[in-house]
Amino acid sequence: MPLARDVAEEVAKQYGVCIRPVPLKRLDTHTGHWEIVDVPCGATLEAKCAPCAKRNRQLRMAQCREGWHLEAEPAITPDEPNEEQRWLVEFRADVQAQRDQADQAGQDAADLDELISGLDEEINAAGMRGNVLGRTVPKRNRSTRRRQDAPDLPKRKMAATTLGRTFTSSDGKIYRPSLFVTLTLPSYGKVKNGTPVDPDSYDYARAARDALHFSKLVDRFVQNLRRVAGYDVQYFAAVEPQKRLAPHLHMAIRGTLPRAEIKQIAAATYHQVWWPPADRVIFDGDRLPEWEDGTGYFDPVTGEVLPTWDRALDQLDTDEAAEPLHVLRFGVQVDVQGMLAGTPDADQCIRYLSKYLTKSISDSLDPDDQAQRDHAARMAEALRFEPCSPTCPNWLRYGVQPKGAKPGMTPGRCRGKAHKPDHLGYAGRRVLVSRKWSNKTLAEHKQDRRTWVLEALGQTDQPTDPHRYIWKPVPASDANVAPLAIRLLRSVAERQRWRAHMVRLQAEAGEQDLSATEGRAA
Ligand SMILES: [Zn+2]
Ligand SMILES: [Zn+2]
Repeated sequence: MPLARDVAEEVAKQYGVCIRPVPLKRLDTHTGHWEIVDVPCGATLEAKCAPCAKRNRQLRMAQCREGWHLEAEPAITPDEPNEEQRWLVEFRADVQAQRDQADQAGQDAADLDELISGLDEEINAAGMRGNVLGRTVPKRNRSTRRRQDAPDLPKRKMAATTLGRTFTSSDGKIYRPSLFVTLTLPSYGKVKNGTPVDPDSYDYARAARDALHFSKLVDRFVQNLRRVAGYDVQYFAAVEPQKRLAPHLHMAIRGTLPRAEIKQIAAATYHQVWWPPADRVIFDGDRLPEWEDGTGYFDPVTGEVLPTWDRALDQLDTDEAAEPLHVLRFGVQVDVQGMLAGTPDADQCIRYLSKYLTKSISDSLDPDDQAQRDHAARMAEALRFEPCSPTCPNWLRYGVQPKGAKPGMTPGRCRGKAHKPDHLGYAGRRVLVSRKWSNKTLAEHKQDRRTWVLEALGQTDQPTDPHRYIWKPVPASDANVAPLAIRLLRSVAERQRWRAHMVRLQAEAGEQDLSATEGRAA
């Protein structure tokens, strides 16, 4: 006999129901009752189960298709926050409070951090821009010398449009061509089947820094692209691992430019990382900086206090001879394809763009390929002591206090995603969609997400007081959490009810449409 749980999982998959729901405790402040509700894993965590991943991929494909060959300017007006958005922000605030509490109590907050970063992505995916915390510190004013220079590229006058040019054929048909561009990073040494021919001479250090800052290079490319194109170019891009484990980028671009210009832009684009030097190891092994309350990190031998992050940056600003920590450029391999809406080629690109969405960088590793596994291990090692962000504990190794320094920081023990073998340096988003790509699909996207959440809450569509609920995580061992099989079947039943409800609503809407038409006719 099959296990009940396996059967329930199969049924859940057929209904597109999350098979790894996250139980959460919810306090209803109106009634004072606590209850446990399941939230789809896709709505809280980065790791998504198959049904959540599939749904996510479908939404992304629809979003990509919708924006690529848009014929009219998308109307971008911030909507009133909806229930789901409010819910996410409330939940985010609650988790933040718990995280801070755990941190103060000296407990491990890694799980909560993970949940928070997942929620932040979710909040953005739900159609809200920015971070719920906003900008907490004033932006640094860098000296002009440190600004990224604009590369030497042709510049067109900016037109206030996001749409590309159209072409009319002799028979009057209008064509709306677009581009599919692939950008890669440079070579770090000769590779064969994705692994270095000579691991000793392969430039892992450079590969690590390139991967860490890759998203910044992409930002620069878009800025330059817009400057050259002379309109507000929109894109839908996916960051994917190459076989050699370096991130590369596939980008659907609305509108078209000459192939040679795209190549010229890619060649001229670079990004300078203005961080303090991190090439000379100052503290290592047993000799590490120590913490003192009110002072920060200091050298236990000399007693000297390490420069804070801000001071290290100030030093960089005033040092005429300072060099950027790292400069990134794309590799020479740039692929540019012209596309037309609705063609099989365009469809294939859309599938391609969403192909890796559900996978982590390391998923493309072949478990039987020892050479590749060794390559991945060397890459992870190169990333171990590389500072991943201003707050990375690795800064202590190079004699700088990380931004927001606190006790207990140890170089080589950063919990940042970038150091994890799953990410291999790239901790950014896998899908990059410009703000004016489309609006309709985003609304659909929101609607769908909203439906998930409401389903999870056991509600259909009645408005709720945004301050009504307080959420808390539940340990998996909690005796009040029903066995997974039962929870899955409950979700299936919920989905069935919801579907029936939708059918009923549609039927009613249809009748109303009909009577409205009849009314007009009369
Ligand atoms: Zn799921
Ligand atoms: Zn780090």
